[in-house]
Amino acid sequence: MLMKFKVRGGVHADERKEQSTDKPIRVLGIPPLLSVPLSQHAGLPAKPIVAEGQHVLKGELIGATAGDRSASIHAPTSGTVLGIGRIQAPHPSLLSYDAIHIEPDGLDSIYLPETPVDPQQLSAAAIADLVDSAGIVGLGGATYPAALKLKAGSRQNVHTLILNGSECEPYLTCDDMLMRERAAEIISGAQLILKAINAKQIIVGIEDNKPQAIKAMREVAQTDSNVEIRVIPTRYPMGSAKQLIKVITGSEVPTGGRSSDIGVLVHNVATSFAVHQAIYQNRPLISRVVTLSGQALATPQNVEVLIGTPVQWLLEQCDGLVATPARMLMGGPMMGQILPNTGVPITKGASAILALTNEEINSAAASPCIRCGSCVQACPMGLLPLEMARHSRADDYDGANEFGLKDCILCGSCAYVCPSHIPLVHYFQFAKGKHRENQIQSSKGEYTKSLSEARLARQEKEAAAKAAAKAEKAAKAAARKKANSQVEKV
Ligand code: SF4
Ligand code: SF4
Repeated sequence: MLMKFKVRGGVHADERKEQSTDKPIRVLGIPPLLSVPLSQHAGLPAKPIVAEGQHVLKGELIGATAGDRSASIHAPTSGTVLGIGRIQAPHPSLLSYDAIHIEPDGLDSIYLPETPVDPQQLSAAAIADLVDSAGIVGLGGATYPAALKLKAGSRQNVHTLILNGSECEPYLTCDDMLMRERAAEIISGAQLILKAINAKQIIVGIEDNKPQAIKAMREVAQTDSNVEIRVIPTRYPMGSAKQLIKVITGSEVPTGGRSSDIGVLVHNVATSFAVHQAIYQNRPLISRVVTLSGQALATPQNVEVLIGTPVQWLLEQCDGLVATPARMLMGGPMMGQILPNTGVPITKGASAILALTNEEINSAAASPCIRCGSCVQACPMGLLPLEMARHSRADDYDGANEFGLKDCILCGSCAYVCPSHIPLVHYFQFAKGKHRENQIQSSKGEYTKSLSEARLARQEKEAAAKAAAKAEKAAKAAARKKANSQVEKV
């Protein structure tokens, strides 16, 4: 049954998904070097807890959470820590970030927990804690720590868990293949999430262009009375949480609000799979399924790959390139990041590596805005992309925010329809990246300020204590002297 609720804006993009769905998911091996970024999630980078030369085991914690919205990171295999160094981020801004470099020992020795858990006996809080320790983030692209959503959901009156299986971006098929091949694990993870948030039902939203995934998920779900597989129309960006909620429930998340305000929580199917692995297999988030696609690739396919694997090594394992790509992307063509080079590593949020030829990209030069309004019509969030771009280009983030930059989901629908080929979404990505960097710097600044204030207060306290001791000593000496002189007089 297709849904009756309509959503605003969006586009019918050329799907090009068939390139990578004719082979099963291939599990790749261990590369000669892994670079695991400390920043793979929405909040502050993880704090490294390993030192150069240290031997680590597969699944061992190597980076701890560093405050709100941070997520831990784990060693993808066993090996030696070569060091912690800056690497280029998968982003055209040429920003760099820290990563832990590990030389694998080839043994893949597993880190075992002291106390094995019985998944059936876990409380809601214990499930959220295990998801937290496993460093699971939203794998649909948002990379928001999953445990935070679970903990918030358990405090609110959430009745419905929506599993996002829409995968609306062109070329991407990693969720489609995961649902075809690992439906039972996805539903198992969803049942754990359901328990963690104390909700009643699971609705899995899948676009109608994935018949095999729909069939596989329905076969598994038929034995679970609280799970429903809902087929939704194929329209980009149906995978955005707000669009998905609207098309499934008919309700809108209030502006500035959260989905939990209307009793709903959304998780991606790959996140649900990761929750199953964390709890039933004691496996933190150390790998993910990535779509390799684009006509410049010899063998488009889906691969399960360790986090931290260099893209170059990944391409070599899959027969390399047959043409020089006109554009390399991490993620889909609508929301992905242009790759500066293939030395960058696979991160938790990397759903795809695309090597696109000239024929596959719109390489027309940008021309001035003709104020046609097509971008406004296409925007699913009801924003004014042309005004946001004007302010973003001028580094005026406050101005851009006034026109909705904060609410922009970076879906790229505006850029897709722009007749002047203005790379609108790249302006928004850059502006948001800069804004986030400023926030991190300001959080770091506040943290450093609070540390130096605490040090100053401690020093003042110590100085005051010293002065008091000195005064007391002087007073005692004076009293002794006075007493002695009185004795002499007597
Ligand atoms: S679609 Fe492009 S040309 Fe038209 S108003 Fe928006 S930015 Fe300007
Ligand atoms: S302004 Fe943002 S949300 Fe709106 S269409 Fe463009 S990228 Fe999507």
